[in-house]
Amino acid sequence: MTGRPGEQEAATAVLERGEWRPFSRSEVRSRRPVAEHQGYVRAIVRPRRPVLVSLHAAEGRVLAADVSATCPLPAFDNSAVDGYAVARADVAAAGPQSPAVLPVMADIPAGCGGGRLLDRGTAHRIMTGAPVPPGADAVIPVESTDGGLRNVSVTAAVAPGANIRRSGEDIQPGASALEAGTVLGPAQLALLSALGQEHVLIRPALRVLLISTGSELTAQGTVPGAGQVRDANSIMLAAAVRACGAVVQQSHMVTDDAAELLRVIVRAAPDIDVIVTSGGISAGAYEVVKQALGPHEVEFTQVAMQPGRPQGAGLFCGIPVVALPGNPVSALISFEVFLRPALRAAMGFDPPERQPAVRKLASAVDSRRAVHQFRLGVAGPDGTFALLPGHRTHFLSAAARSSWLLEIAPDVTHLPAGASCAVKALD
Ligand code: AMP
Ligand code: MG
Repeated sequence: MTGRPGEQEAATAVLERGEWRPFSRSEVRSRRPVAEHQGYVRAIVRPRRPVLVSLHAAEGRVLAADVSATCPLPAFDNSAVDGYAVARADVAAAGPQSPAVLPVMADIPAGCGGGRLLDRGTAHRIMTGAPVPPGADAVIPVESTDGGLRNVSVTAAVAPGANIRRSGEDIQPGASALEAGTVLGPAQLALLSALGQEHVLIRPALRVLLISTGSELTAQGTVPGAGQVRDANSIMLAAAVRACGAVVQQSHMVTDDAAELLRVIVRAAPDIDVIVTSGGISAGAYEVVKQALGPHEVEFTQVAMQPGRPQGAGLFCGIPVVALPGNPVSALISFEVFLRPALRAAMGFDPPERQPAVRKLASAVDSRRAVHQFRLGVAGPDGTFALLPGHRTHFLSAAARSSWLLEIAPDVTHLPAGASCAVKALD
Protein backbone atom coordinates (compact mmCIF):
# COMPACT_ATOMS: atom_id res chain seq x y z
CA MET A 1 0.00 0.00 0.00
CA THR A 2 1.27 3.49 -0.65
CA GLY A 3 0.75 6.45 1.62
CA ARG A 4 -0.38 9.98 0.85
CA PRO A 5 2.24 12.77 0.59
CA GLY A 6 3.24 13.96 4.03
CA GLU A 7 2.26 10.69 5.67
CA GLN A 8 4.90 9.02 3.57
CA GLU A 9 7.56 11.46 4.75
CA ALA A 10 6.62 10.95 8.40
CA ALA A 11 6.94 7.21 7.92
CA THR A 12 10.31 7.55 6.21
CA ALA A 13 11.56 9.57 9.18
CA VAL A 14 10.69 6.66 11.47
CA LEU A 15 12.56 4.28 9.19
CA GLU A 16 15.59 6.50 8.94
CA ARG A 17 15.98 6.58 12.69
CA GLY A 18 16.43 2.82 12.63
CA GLU A 19 17.24 2.35 16.30
CA TRP A 20 17.86 -1.08 17.69
CA ARG A 21 15.11 -2.26 19.98
CA PRO A 22 16.70 -5.06 21.96
CA PHE A 23 14.79 -6.85 24.67
CA SER A 24 15.73 -5.53 28.09
CA ARG A 25 17.47 -7.78 30.63
CA SER A 26 14.35 -7.97 32.76
CA GLU A 27 12.26 -8.94 29.70
CA VAL A 28 14.65 -11.77 28.95
CA ARG A 29 14.76 -12.93 32.58
CA SER A 30 11.01 -12.89 33.04
CA ARG A 31 9.78 -14.58 29.92
CA ARG A 32 6.03 -14.99 30.12
CA PRO A 33 4.81 -18.59 30.49
CA VAL A 34 2.82 -19.91 27.52
CA ALA A 35 -0.29 -20.45 29.65
CA GLU A 36 -0.23 -16.84 30.81
CA HIS A 37 -0.06 -15.45 27.28
CA GLN A 38 -2.76 -17.92 26.21
CA GLY A 39 -4.95 -16.63 29.03
CA TYR A 40 -4.27 -13.04 28.04
CA VAL A 41 -5.12 -13.60 24.38
CA ARG A 42 -8.21 -15.55 25.41
CA ALA A 43 -9.33 -12.65 27.61
CA ILE A 44 -9.06 -9.95 24.92
CA VAL A 45 -10.69 -11.86 22.05
CA ARG A 46 -14.37 -11.35 22.79
CA PRO A 47 -17.46 -12.95 21.23
CA ARG A 48 -19.83 -11.07 18.97
CA ARG A 49 -23.51 -10.85 19.83
CA PRO A 50 -25.56 -13.84 18.62
CA VAL A 51 -27.37 -13.29 15.34
CA LEU A 52 -30.39 -14.85 13.67
CA VAL A 53 -29.41 -16.34 10.30
CA SER A 54 -30.85 -18.65 7.66
CA LEU A 55 -30.04 -22.33 8.01
CA HIS A 56 -27.63 -22.13 5.07
CA ALA A 57 -25.68 -19.34 6.75
CA ALA A 58 -25.61 -21.31 10.00
CA GLU A 59 -23.48 -24.16 8.64
CA GLY A 60 -20.54 -24.90 10.92
CA ARG A 61 -21.58 -22.29 13.49
CA VAL A 62 -22.40 -22.81 17.15
CA LEU A 63 -26.03 -22.63 18.22
CA ALA A 64 -26.59 -19.73 20.64
CA ALA A 65 -29.92 -20.84 22.15
CA ASP A 66 -31.74 -24.10 22.80
CA VAL A 67 -34.18 -25.18 20.09
CA SER A 68 -37.36 -27.14 20.90
CA ALA A 69 -39.44 -29.08 18.41
CA THR A 70 -42.56 -27.23 17.32
CA CYS A 71 -44.01 -30.25 15.50
CA PRO A 72 -43.70 -34.03 15.73
CA LEU A 73 -41.22 -35.99 13.63
CA PRO A 74 -42.30 -37.93 11.72
CA ALA A 75 -45.14 -35.50 11.14
CA PHE A 76 -47.64 -38.34 10.41
CA ASP A 77 -47.76 -42.14 10.46
CA ASN A 78 -46.03 -43.26 7.27
CA SER A 79 -44.70 -46.35 5.61
CA ALA A 80 -41.10 -47.42 6.18
CA VAL A 81 -41.10 -49.62 3.05
CA ASP A 82 -42.55 -49.98 -0.41
CA GLY A 83 -45.34 -52.53 -0.05
CA TYR A 84 -48.98 -52.98 0.94
CA ALA A 85 -50.88 -51.41 3.85
CA VAL A 86 -53.12 -54.05 5.47
CA ALA A 87 -55.03 -54.94 8.59
CA ARG A 88 -52.53 -57.30 10.17
CA ALA A 89 -55.24 -59.79 11.18
CA ASP A 90 -56.00 -60.33 7.47
CA VAL A 91 -52.54 -61.75 6.82
CA ALA A 92 -51.94 -63.43 10.23
CA ALA A 93 -51.97 -66.93 8.70
CA ALA A 94 -50.02 -66.03 5.54
CA GLY A 95 -46.99 -68.11 4.62
CA PRO A 96 -45.16 -69.31 1.52
CA GLN A 97 -47.48 -72.34 1.23
CA SER A 98 -50.63 -70.49 2.31
CA PRO A 99 -50.59 -66.96 0.85
CA ALA A 100 -53.27 -64.46 1.83
CA VAL A 101 -54.79 -62.93 -1.31
CA LEU A 102 -56.26 -59.43 -0.94
CA PRO A 103 -57.76 -57.06 -3.53
CA VAL A 104 -55.68 -53.91 -4.02
CA MET A 105 -58.13 -50.99 -3.58
CA ALA A 106 -55.87 -47.94 -3.73
CA ASP A 107 -52.41 -46.69 -4.60
CA ILE A 108 -50.67 -44.36 -2.11
CA PRO A 109 -47.53 -42.69 -3.49
CA ALA A 110 -45.28 -40.53 -1.31
CA GLY A 111 -46.60 -36.98 -1.10
CA CYS A 112 -50.25 -37.94 -1.39
CA GLY A 113 -52.32 -36.18 1.24
CA GLY A 114 -53.92 -38.74 3.56
CA GLY A 115 -54.99 -42.18 2.33
CA ARG A 116 -58.63 -43.20 2.18
CA LEU A 117 -59.99 -45.70 4.74
CA LEU A 118 -58.69 -49.26 4.32
CA ASP A 119 -61.54 -51.75 4.46
CA ARG A 120 -60.94 -55.08 6.20
CA GLY A 121 -59.96 -57.84 3.80
CA THR A 122 -58.31 -55.43 1.33
CA ALA A 123 -54.86 -53.91 0.76
CA HIS A 124 -53.58 -50.51 -0.44
CA ARG A 125 -50.33 -50.37 -2.39
CA ILE A 126 -48.12 -47.91 -0.54
CA MET A 127 -44.69 -46.31 -1.10
CA THR A 128 -42.00 -45.43 1.42
CA GLY A 129 -42.87 -42.18 3.23
CA ALA A 130 -46.53 -42.18 2.15
CA PRO A 131 -49.23 -41.76 4.84
CA VAL A 132 -50.56 -45.03 6.24
CA PRO A 133 -54.33 -45.12 5.61
CA PRO A 134 -56.72 -45.25 8.54
CA GLY A 135 -57.72 -48.88 9.17
CA ALA A 136 -54.23 -50.25 8.38
CA ASP A 137 -52.01 -51.41 11.22
CA ALA A 138 -49.09 -52.91 9.27
CA VAL A 139 -47.30 -52.65 5.95
CA ILE A 140 -46.17 -55.78 4.11
CA PRO A 141 -42.89 -55.20 2.22
CA VAL A 142 -43.24 -55.78 -1.52
CA GLU A 143 -40.59 -58.51 -1.20
CA SER A 144 -43.07 -60.60 0.85
CA THR A 145 -45.70 -60.42 -1.90
CA ASP A 146 -46.11 -61.15 -5.60
CA GLY A 147 -46.32 -57.38 -6.25
CA GLY A 148 -49.85 -57.71 -7.70
CA LEU A 149 -51.69 -54.61 -8.86
CA ARG A 150 -55.33 -55.82 -8.78
CA ASN A 151 -54.90 -58.55 -6.19
CA VAL A 152 -51.88 -59.13 -4.04
CA SER A 153 -50.66 -62.45 -2.75
CA VAL A 154 -49.00 -62.05 0.66
CA THR A 155 -46.57 -64.83 1.63
CA ALA A 156 -45.46 -63.71 5.12
CA ALA A 157 -47.22 -62.55 8.28
CA VAL A 158 -46.00 -59.43 10.09
CA ALA A 159 -46.06 -58.07 13.64
CA PRO A 160 -48.57 -55.39 14.68
CA GLY A 161 -47.34 -51.95 13.56
CA ALA A 162 -44.73 -53.54 11.29
CA ASN A 163 -43.04 -51.10 8.91
CA ILE A 164 -45.02 -48.09 10.15
CA ARG A 165 -43.08 -45.03 11.30
CA ARG A 166 -45.27 -43.50 13.97
CA SER A 167 -45.90 -39.77 14.19
CA GLY A 168 -43.66 -38.24 16.90
CA GLU A 169 -41.61 -41.39 17.49
CA ASP A 170 -38.43 -39.45 16.55
CA ILE A 171 -39.26 -36.23 18.43
CA GLN A 172 -42.40 -34.86 20.08
CA PRO A 173 -43.54 -31.23 19.97
CA GLY A 174 -42.01 -29.32 22.86
CA ALA A 175 -39.13 -31.76 23.30
CA SER A 176 -35.57 -30.43 23.21
CA ALA A 177 -34.22 -30.71 19.65
CA LEU A 178 -30.78 -29.09 20.00
CA GLU A 179 -28.99 -27.45 22.88
CA ALA A 180 -27.12 -24.16 22.83
CA GLY A 181 -23.45 -24.86 22.15
CA THR A 182 -24.12 -27.50 19.49
CA VAL A 183 -22.07 -27.17 16.32
CA LEU A 184 -24.43 -27.06 13.35
CA GLY A 185 -23.16 -29.77 11.03
CA PRO A 186 -25.09 -31.74 8.41
CA ALA A 187 -27.27 -33.77 10.81
CA GLN A 188 -28.17 -30.79 13.00
CA LEU A 189 -29.11 -28.65 9.99
CA ALA A 190 -31.19 -31.53 8.63
CA LEU A 191 -33.09 -31.75 11.93
CA LEU A 192 -33.78 -28.00 12.00
CA SER A 193 -34.92 -28.11 8.39
CA ALA A 194 -37.21 -31.09 9.04
CA LEU A 195 -38.71 -29.19 11.98
CA GLY A 196 -39.48 -26.24 9.74
CA GLN A 197 -37.00 -23.91 11.40
CA GLU A 198 -36.08 -21.28 8.79
CA HIS A 199 -33.75 -19.22 10.94
CA VAL A 200 -31.55 -20.02 13.86
CA LEU A 201 -29.67 -18.01 16.48
CA ILE A 202 -25.94 -18.59 16.17
CA ARG A 203 -22.66 -17.34 17.54
CA PRO A 204 -21.22 -15.49 14.52
CA ALA A 205 -17.76 -15.88 13.08
CA LEU A 206 -15.18 -13.36 14.23
CA ARG A 207 -13.98 -11.09 11.41
CA VAL A 208 -10.22 -10.92 11.24
CA LEU A 209 -8.01 -8.22 9.75
CA LEU A 210 -4.78 -9.93 8.66
CA ILE A 211 -1.65 -7.85 8.14
CA SER A 212 1.68 -9.29 7.01
CA THR A 213 4.46 -6.81 7.63
CA GLY A 214 7.90 -6.54 6.08
CA SER A 215 9.50 -4.24 3.52
CA GLU A 216 11.13 -7.32 2.04
CA LEU A 217 7.83 -9.00 1.18
CA THR A 218 6.47 -9.34 -2.34
CA ALA A 219 2.93 -10.34 -3.16
CA GLN A 220 1.93 -13.51 -4.93
CA GLY A 221 2.38 -13.19 -8.66
CA THR A 222 5.31 -10.78 -8.52
CA VAL A 223 8.91 -11.75 -9.07
CA PRO A 224 11.01 -10.92 -6.01
CA GLY A 225 13.80 -8.43 -6.56
CA ALA A 226 17.15 -8.54 -4.79
CA GLY A 227 16.67 -9.12 -1.07
CA GLN A 228 12.96 -9.63 -1.42
CA VAL A 229 10.97 -12.56 -0.07
CA ARG A 230 7.67 -13.96 -1.29
CA ASP A 231 4.92 -13.49 1.26
CA ALA A 232 4.04 -16.84 2.84
CA ASN A 233 2.24 -15.71 5.98
CA SER A 234 -0.78 -14.03 4.40
CA ILE A 235 -2.11 -17.15 2.74
CA MET A 236 -1.00 -19.38 5.61
CA LEU A 237 -2.73 -17.33 8.29
CA ALA A 238 -5.82 -16.80 6.13
CA ALA A 239 -6.16 -20.57 5.78
CA ALA A 240 -5.64 -21.02 9.51
CA VAL A 241 -8.25 -18.35 10.31
CA ARG A 242 -10.81 -20.00 8.05
CA ALA A 243 -9.99 -23.51 9.27
CA CYS A 244 -10.87 -22.53 12.81
CA GLY A 245 -14.23 -21.10 11.75
CA ALA A 246 -13.41 -17.38 11.62
CA VAL A 247 -13.55 -15.06 8.61
CA VAL A 248 -10.76 -13.14 6.90
CA GLN A 249 -12.46 -9.78 6.53
CA GLN A 250 -9.41 -8.09 4.96
CA SER A 251 -5.82 -9.12 4.30
CA HIS A 252 -2.99 -6.65 3.66
CA MET A 253 0.72 -6.74 3.17
CA VAL A 254 2.46 -3.60 4.45
CA THR A 255 6.02 -2.37 4.46
CA ASP A 256 7.91 -1.56 7.65
CA ASP A 257 6.17 1.78 7.84
CA ALA A 258 4.32 2.46 11.08
CA ALA A 259 2.11 5.16 9.58
CA GLU A 260 1.06 2.86 6.75
CA LEU A 261 0.25 0.08 9.19
CA LEU A 262 -1.89 2.40 11.30
CA ARG A 263 -3.70 3.68 8.21
CA VAL A 264 -4.61 0.13 7.19
CA ILE A 265 -5.92 -0.66 10.65
CA VAL A 266 -7.93 2.55 11.02
CA ARG A 267 -9.58 2.05 7.62
CA ALA A 268 -10.57 -1.51 8.37
CA ALA A 269 -11.56 -0.92 12.00
CA PRO A 270 -15.34 -0.50 11.58
CA ASP A 271 -15.80 -4.03 10.22
CA ILE A 272 -13.39 -6.17 12.17
CA ASP A 273 -13.33 -8.00 15.49
CA VAL A 274 -9.66 -9.01 15.70
CA ILE A 275 -6.41 -7.69 14.24
CA VAL A 276 -3.74 -10.28 13.52
CA THR A 277 -0.30 -9.14 12.40
CA SER A 278 2.81 -11.08 11.50
CA GLY A 279 6.38 -9.85 11.78
CA GLY A 280 7.74 -6.62 13.15
CA ILE A 281 7.75 -7.48 16.85
CA SER A 282 11.25 -8.73 17.49
CA ALA A 283 14.47 -7.01 18.60
CA GLY A 284 15.53 -5.44 15.29
CA ALA A 285 15.61 -1.80 14.30
CA TYR A 286 12.50 -1.67 12.11
CA GLU A 287 9.91 -3.48 14.20
CA VAL A 288 6.92 -1.87 12.59
CA VAL A 289 4.16 -3.48 14.64
CA LYS A 290 5.89 -2.54 17.87
CA GLN A 291 6.45 0.99 16.61
CA ALA A 292 2.87 1.45 15.46
CA LEU A 293 1.00 -0.29 18.24
CA GLY A 294 3.37 0.01 21.20
CA PRO A 295 2.09 3.51 21.97
CA HIS A 296 -1.41 2.02 22.17
CA GLU A 297 -2.59 -0.66 24.60
CA VAL A 298 -0.62 -3.42 22.90
CA GLU A 299 2.00 -5.15 24.95
CA PHE A 300 5.04 -6.77 23.38
CA THR A 301 6.65 -9.52 25.33
CA GLN A 302 8.82 -12.58 25.22
CA VAL A 303 7.14 -15.90 25.86
CA ALA A 304 9.09 -18.86 27.19
CA MET A 305 8.48 -20.94 24.11
CA GLN A 306 10.28 -22.18 21.06
CA PRO A 307 9.50 -21.37 18.32
CA GLY A 308 7.55 -18.14 18.79
CA ARG A 309 9.37 -16.25 21.51
CA PRO A 310 8.38 -12.67 20.58
CA GLN A 311 4.66 -12.10 20.92
CA GLY A 312 2.36 -9.14 21.22
CA ALA A 313 -1.22 -8.72 22.34
CA GLY A 314 -3.54 -5.99 23.52
CA LEU A 315 -6.13 -3.54 22.29
CA PHE A 316 -6.11 -0.89 19.60
CA CYS A 317 -9.06 1.45 20.15
CA GLY A 318 -10.85 -1.44 21.85
CA ILE A 319 -10.13 -3.95 19.06
CA PRO A 320 -8.09 -6.97 20.13
CA VAL A 321 -4.69 -7.22 18.50
CA VAL A 322 -2.63 -10.38 18.40
CA ALA A 323 0.84 -9.77 16.98
CA LEU A 324 2.62 -12.90 15.77
CA PRO A 325 6.31 -13.28 14.91
CA GLY A 326 7.28 -13.09 11.25
CA ASN A 327 9.08 -16.36 10.68
CA PRO A 328 6.42 -18.51 9.03
CA VAL A 329 6.79 -21.57 11.28
CA SER A 330 6.81 -19.36 14.39
CA ALA A 331 3.72 -17.55 13.13
CA LEU A 332 1.92 -20.80 12.39
CA ILE A 333 2.69 -22.34 15.78
CA SER A 334 1.85 -19.09 17.56
CA PHE A 335 -1.49 -19.02 15.78
CA GLU A 336 -2.10 -22.60 16.83
CA VAL A 337 -1.10 -22.05 20.46
CA PHE A 338 -2.63 -18.64 21.16
CA LEU A 339 -5.08 -17.52 18.52
CA ARG A 340 -6.88 -20.65 17.47
CA PRO A 341 -8.16 -21.51 20.96
CA ALA A 342 -9.04 -17.87 21.66
CA LEU A 343 -10.98 -17.45 18.40
CA ARG A 344 -12.76 -20.75 18.85
CA ALA A 345 -13.69 -20.02 22.45
CA ALA A 346 -15.11 -16.64 21.43
CA MET A 347 -17.15 -18.33 18.71
CA GLY A 348 -18.58 -20.82 21.22
CA PHE A 349 -16.70 -23.97 20.22
CA ASP A 350 -16.35 -26.19 23.27
CA PRO A 351 -13.72 -27.35 23.91
CA PRO A 352 -11.84 -24.72 21.90
CA GLU A 353 -8.57 -26.64 22.01
CA ARG A 354 -7.69 -29.66 19.91
CA GLN A 355 -7.86 -32.85 21.90
CA PRO A 356 -4.52 -34.65 22.23
CA ALA A 357 -3.78 -38.24 21.25
CA VAL A 358 -1.11 -40.34 22.94
CA ARG A 359 1.72 -41.54 20.71
CA LYS A 360 5.09 -43.13 21.31
CA LEU A 361 8.08 -41.05 20.26
CA ALA A 362 9.92 -42.63 17.34
CA SER A 363 13.22 -41.12 18.46
CA ALA A 364 14.58 -39.25 21.48
CA VAL A 365 14.20 -35.50 21.70
CA ASP A 366 15.99 -32.89 23.81
CA SER A 367 14.46 -29.63 24.93
CA ARG A 368 15.84 -26.55 26.66
CA ARG A 369 14.98 -26.17 30.32
CA ALA A 370 12.36 -23.52 31.10
CA VAL A 371 11.29 -23.31 27.48
CA HIS A 372 7.96 -24.67 26.26
CA GLN A 373 8.88 -26.49 23.10
CA PHE A 374 6.54 -27.08 20.15
CA ARG A 375 7.67 -29.55 17.52
CA LEU A 376 5.99 -30.53 14.28
CA GLY A 377 5.99 -34.12 13.12
CA VAL A 378 4.13 -36.95 11.49
CA ALA A 379 2.19 -39.88 12.88
CA GLY A 380 3.71 -43.24 11.97
CA PRO A 381 1.55 -46.24 11.05
CA ASP A 382 2.52 -48.11 14.23
CA GLY A 383 1.14 -45.54 16.64
CA THR A 384 4.38 -43.57 16.82
CA PHE A 385 5.09 -39.88 16.43
CA ALA A 386 8.15 -38.93 14.40
CA LEU A 387 9.68 -35.46 14.57
CA LEU A 388 10.55 -34.00 11.22
CA PRO A 389 14.23 -33.33 10.77
CA GLY A 390 15.14 -29.73 10.11
CA HIS A 391 13.37 -27.96 12.88
CA ARG A 392 13.98 -24.27 12.16
CA THR A 393 11.55 -21.40 12.26
CA HIS A 394 11.96 -20.66 8.55
CA PHE A 395 11.76 -24.31 7.40
CA LEU A 396 8.47 -24.26 5.61
CA SER A 397 9.03 -27.48 3.69
CA ALA A 398 9.23 -29.47 6.93
CA ALA A 399 6.14 -27.70 8.27
CA ALA A 400 4.31 -28.50 5.06
CA ARG A 401 4.93 -32.22 5.53
CA SER A 402 3.88 -32.35 9.17
CA SER A 403 0.42 -33.03 10.47
CA TRP A 404 0.93 -33.34 14.23
CA LEU A 405 2.19 -31.01 16.93
CA LEU A 406 4.14 -32.19 19.98
CA GLU A 407 4.27 -30.00 23.06
CA ILE A 408 7.15 -30.45 25.50
CA ALA A 409 6.56 -28.88 28.92
CA PRO A 410 9.19 -26.39 30.17
CA ASP A 411 10.40 -28.70 32.95
CA VAL A 412 11.12 -31.59 30.53
CA THR A 413 14.60 -31.57 29.01
CA HIS A 414 14.73 -35.04 27.47
CA LEU A 415 12.22 -37.52 26.14
CA PRO A 416 13.65 -40.94 25.25
CA ALA A 417 12.62 -42.90 22.17
CA GLY A 418 9.46 -44.86 22.96
CA ALA A 419 8.24 -42.35 25.56
CA SER A 420 4.48 -41.76 25.51
CA CYS A 421 3.67 -38.20 24.54
CA ALA A 422 0.54 -36.18 23.84
CA VAL A 423 0.33 -34.90 20.29
CA LYS A 424 -2.36 -32.89 18.53
CA ALA A 425 -3.52 -33.49 14.97
CA LEU A 426 -3.42 -30.29 12.92
CA ASP A 427 -5.92 -29.37 10.19
P1 AMP B 1 10.36 -10.28 11.49
O1 AMP B 1 9.62 -10.93 12.59
O2 AMP B 1 9.59 -9.22 10.82
O3 AMP B 1 11.71 -9.83 11.95
O4 AMP B 1 10.61 -11.40 10.40
C1 AMP B 1 11.37 -12.54 10.72
C2 AMP B 1 11.66 -13.33 9.48
O5 AMP B 1 10.45 -13.80 8.92
C3 AMP B 1 12.35 -12.56 8.39
O6 AMP B 1 13.28 -13.41 7.77
C4 AMP B 1 11.23 -12.20 7.44
O7 AMP B 1 11.66 -11.99 6.12
C5 AMP B 1 10.36 -13.42 7.56
N1 AMP B 1 8.99 -13.08 7.27
C6 AMP B 1 8.28 -12.13 7.89
N2 AMP B 1 7.06 -12.04 7.38
C7 AMP B 1 6.99 -12.95 6.38
C8 AMP B 1 5.99 -13.35 5.46
N3 AMP B 1 4.80 -12.74 5.43
N4 AMP B 1 6.26 -14.34 4.60
C9 AMP B 1 7.47 -14.94 4.60
N5 AMP B 1 8.44 -14.61 5.45
C10 AMP B 1 8.24 -13.63 6.33
MG1 MG C 1 9.99 -7.74 9.55
